[in-house]
Amino acid sequence: MTQQQAQTLYIAGEWKSAESGETFPVTDPSSGEVIGYASDGGVSETETAIAAAVDAFQAWSTTTAYQRADILSKAHRIMLERREELARLMTQEQGKPLRAARNEVTYAADFLSWFAEEAKRIGGITIPSARADQRFMTMRQPVGVVAAITPWNYPISMITRKLGPALAAGCTSVLKPASLTPLCAVATLRVFEDAGVPAGVINMITGRSASAIGTALVESKDVRKLTFTGSTAIGKRLAAQAAGTLKRVSVELGGHAPFIVFPDADPVRAAKGAALVKFLNMGQACISPNRIYVHRSIYDTFLSTLTDRVAALKIGRGDQDGVAIGPLIDDRATEKMESQVADATAKGARVLIGGERVTVEGVGGTNFYAPTVLADVTPDMEISVDETFGPIAAVTPFDDEDEVIRLANDTEYGLAAYLYTNDLSTAIRVTEQLRYGIIGVNDINPTSAAAPFGGVKSSGLGREGGDEGIDEYLDTKLVGIAV
Ligand code: NAP
Repeated sequence: MTQQQAQTLYIAGEWKSAESGETFPVTDPSSGEVIGYASDGGVSETETAIAAAVDAFQAWSTTTAYQRADILSKAHRIMLERREELARLMTQEQGKPLRAARNEVTYAADFLSWFAEEAKRIGGITIPSARADQRFMTMRQPVGVVAAITPWNYPISMITRKLGPALAAGCTSVLKPASLTPLCAVATLRVFEDAGVPAGVINMITGRSASAIGTALVESKDVRKLTFTGSTAIGKRLAAQAAGTLKRVSVELGGHAPFIVFPDADPVRAAKGAALVKFLNMGQACISPNRIYVHRSIYDTFLSTLTDRVAALKIGRGDQDGVAIGPLIDDRATEKMESQVADATAKGARVLIGGERVTVEGVGGTNFYAPTVLADVTPDMEISVDETFGPIAAVTPFDDEDEVIRLANDTEYGLAAYLYTNDLSTAIRVTEQLRYGIIGVNDINPTSAAAPFGGVKSSGLGREGGDEGIDEYLDTKLVGIAV
């Protein structure tokens, strides 16, 4: 798409340019080259999109669950048919290696099939009354117009994780995708359009004025729910703004996952697991392990295995053969790696491998950062406190269980935590004490469209996926009937 042709606003079933005619470039993070343009929508277009969602609500909310399920199932099928083209676009726009991009498209499609089925299970209950002449029943009805704001790191699945349940529940939506990945959002909305989602049911505003678009969405009386995935700072701000109109709010925010390896665990298996999960999407994941605690008795074996595994990770453009580590999203992200490593080494951490930017032959970009292992990390280092969001494995030895649980919980975040042990008692005891929304026990991928995803504390409110995922889009109505 050229600069002049960019029409990436989707309002009332039509693709439009910004009223100003302004566009903004979208770049490939591996090369810095412009790969397309998006329309620079703002407040006025957002208000028009909200009005379109309001207009479409009555008809959409009164379709049958089976009609909505049919459309979602069709979207699921179309998304899988386009898996390769969506994955290639994602790799180009966001940078993750092609294999991971394909997996993300499958994960994104899973939400469509899961919520297609969940639509049919929206029911109420009957409740016995103390009065003989009274009956109670409940209905669950769509909350109304939903504002959905999504991040760049999982640019397709974070959209279907929100729009899937919104559609299933009978809500209409206005989406604001991340300005770094609008092309993936356009391709995702085309899936919904081609599946037959009626005009106005889903609308989208791309734009660089996130704060203005966000304010228009969260302060609108017509928008009845905010669903946001992104940083904790912005999520808190939006939740506070949404309080003015007392909207339903679910926010999926940052994380700082501990990864604990107990002395009875196999350190080699745990290190292989850590190498796999830590460097997924170059560490740019909210559930990426940020603090790896390893019992001192197996510390050296764990570190040497992890370092060997990291040495084998190939760095390059995501569509090149065998590449496991693509570019970071932008310069700011790469600078954060440099500053966290500089801070950690100044305070005594050892760099076992990596620890610097690298260049990739034949690929012009400057945001490749070598996958890194830091040993002897301590709680006073920035990396132990701030979300890294990059390819640095920070490893700390520990001596006893109480100490490691205290360290693991010593954070404002509470999204995911991992533990490795072969002792069932340890697994249950520690799982119960970790203040996190998701725990992986000897498991590096505790996520599925069929399971509730979400955090506690500053990692968010609400759950996405699973049978709880649709509750966020439904209000319960109590009906008392005198008979
Ligand atoms: P971000 O800066 O908070 O951006 C997320 C979204 O919010 C983008 O669409 C962004 O738009 C928009 N935004 C930014 N400022 C805004 C404002 N003032 N008002 C309204 N919207 C605003 O986060 P990010 O850097 O894209 O994503 C990384 C963060 O997301 C990490 O902290 C990560 O842990 C978290 N995350 C959490 C989950 C989860 O499920 N818990 C999943 C994935 C990511 P622009 O792109 O235009 O700035």
